[in-house]
Amino acid sequence: SPVVTDGRIEFRNVTFSYDGKRDVLQDISFTVNPGETVAFVGHTGSGKSTIMNLLMRFYHVRKGEIFLDGADLRQYEEAEIRRQIGLVLQDAFLFAGNVKQNIRMYNEGITDEDIREAAQFVQADSFIEQLPHGYDTEVMERGSTFSSGQRQLLTFARTIAANPKILVLDEATANIDTETEEAIQAALKRMRQGRTTIAIAHRLSTIQDADQIFVMHHGRIVERGNHQEL
Ligand code: ATP
Ligand code: MG
Repeated sequence: SPVVTDGRIEFRNVTFSYDGKRDVLQDISFTVNPGETVAFVGHTGSGKSTIMNLLMRFYHVRKGEIFLDGADLRQYEEAEIRRQIGLVLQDAFLFAGNVKQNIRMYNEGITDEDIREAAQFVQADSFIEQLPHGYDTEVMERGSTFSSGQRQLLTFARTIAANPKILVLDEATANIDTETEEAIQAALKRMRQGRTTIAIAHRLSTIQDADQIFVMHHGRIVERGNHQEL
C-alpha cells in the first residue's frame, strides 16, 4: 500500500451524499500542492466539513476520486491516513490520563524528550511546567481543569508529536481571550510550516496567508483565488 511522502491532495469531480438522496457536495475539484495552505469558507451547511470528512476517509466517495500523492485514497492503510493527516478540531479532545499520555496518543513510541519538544514547538511547555506534577499531571475527563486555549495547545502538541504531512484544521469561531488567541495563531503558523494545510477558516490571518481560498455555496466551489483576487 502507498505511503504519504509529499502531502499533495487532489479532489476530482467529487459528488457526495450522506443519505443517497440529497447531494451535499457537487462536482468538487481542486488540487493542493505540498506545503500549501488552502482555506475553505462559506455559509453553514455549504459542505466544508464534509470535504474534510471525505479526506479523512470517515465516509467513502462513490462518485469522483480523491488522490493523495497521486494514489487513490482508497488504496491507503487506515493507519497511514490517521498518522499522516493531523486533524485539528475546534473542540479539543483530551482523555483521562496524564499530560504526557495525551501528547503521545498518536505516536506511542516517542520519548519524554520528544514530548517536551512537541510541547515547546507549540509553546505549551511553560504552562505544563507550572502544573502541580508537570508532564505527569493527571488530566480530568475532557480536560475540564484546563482553559479552552490550553486544551487546544495540548492537542496541537499531540498533533506535532505525530509529525503528519498534512494538517486538517477546523478553526474555532468561539471567542477566546486575545492573549490565548495570539498563542494559538503563533502555534498554528509554526505547525503549518512545511505541511500541506487544509483549513475551514474563520480567522482572517489564515485567510490572508492562504495560497488558495475556496468559497463554498450549496455544495459547490463557486469562487477560488487568493486573498487579493477575491
Ligand atoms: P458549518 O459551517 O455549519 O460547519 P459546513 O459547511 O461544514 O457547515 P457540512 O457539515 O459539510 O457543512 O454539511 C453539509 C450538509 O450535509 C448539510 O446540509 C448537513 O446537514 C449535512 N450533513 C453533515 N453531516 C452529516 C451527516 N453526518 N449525516 C447526514 N447529513 C449530514
Ligand atoms: Mg462544518
